[in-house]
Amino acid sequence: HAKEEGNGYYRFFKPSLAPLVEEKMQIDNGLYKALKEEQFSLHYQPKINAATGELCGIEALIRWSHPELGMVPPDKFIPLAEESGFILEIDNWVFREACRQNKEWQDAGLKKISVSVNISARHFFQGNLKEMVERGLADTGLDPHYVSLEITEGVFMRNMEQVIETILYLRGRGIQISIDDFGTGYSSLNQLQRLPISDVKLDRSFIRGITSDEKKSSIVKAIIDLVHSMNMKVVAEGVETADESQFCKDLRCDELQGYLFSRPLPAEQLKELLK
Ligand code: C2E
Ligand code: MG
Ligand code: MG
Ligand code: MG
Repeated sequence: HAKEEGNGYYRFFKPSLAPLVEEKMQIDNGLYKALKEEQFSLHYQPKINAATGELCGIEALIRWSHPELGMVPPDKFIPLAEESGFILEIDNWVFREACRQNKEWQDAGLKKISVSVNISARHFFQGNLKEMVERGLADTGLDPHYVSLEITEGVFMRNMEQVIETILYLRGRGIQISIDDFGTGYSSLNQLQRLPISDVKLDRSFIRGITSDEKKSSIVKAIIDLVHSMNMKVVAEGVETADESQFCKDLRCDELQGYLFSRPLPAEQLKELLK
């Protein structure tokens, strides 16, 4: 039945859909090879201390240079890798590489800062996050106090007890835990209260236009005050203008991140900032 339907669909939409489907397959098939043949690299985006303006951390963001497609943005392949489960392999590579790179910079005597790694919700349900983290730390020798994991609200959708246990374990090792894209998912502030989270990253959709949207700014102010009352820090994501930056500072955001300060940079360029 599905096949028949699929055929009709295909014939009807052939001119526009076929290339898209093909590209999707090309990306899916290419992921395994990409990992094996070292087509992935990491860029690092600075986080700024809102009070001092100092660089206080970096976020590792994956980049894929595909031999035929060129640079493939994460939004094009991360969702596919999430679907297939291959994200577990990708995040494992990212975690190790980010730790290895940070340790190398520390050993070279550069400023010591924390590196954040994005972790798919899949790790909490299918993977073995604790083992992956322990192996990466042991193999690279990085002090866990310089590691932060960014998770999304999606991890709170099921297995809450197991999620709390894992986060407690990681925090016990000195690792920081952030909630990424906060406000776009389904977590409640009540759930947040039950978790030993270090900071909340306010999604950039809350920051965009905050200076001219009174409704938005009062919501953001309420969120920030609530998060602070739970003894967690607030990071503003996607700060693009000086006005947005000032507004976030006035609302007492702790850290700022966005194109205003820096785009994600290749390792060599980030190294210059650490000097
Ligand atoms: P994210 O973790 O929320 O990362 C922030 C994204 O916003 C990055 O896009 C960053 O380049 C972009 N960004 C930063 N500042 C600004 C700004 O001022 N304005 C705008 N318009 N955008 C800004 P990127 O690198 O394309 O990554 C997109 C998403 O892909 C990430 O969102 C994250 O969810 C996912 N991702 C990236 N690397 C990894 C990874 O290694 N593992 C996993 N699981 N996901 C990853
Ligand atoms: Mg992130
Ligand atoms: Mg985000
Ligand atoms: Mg995101």
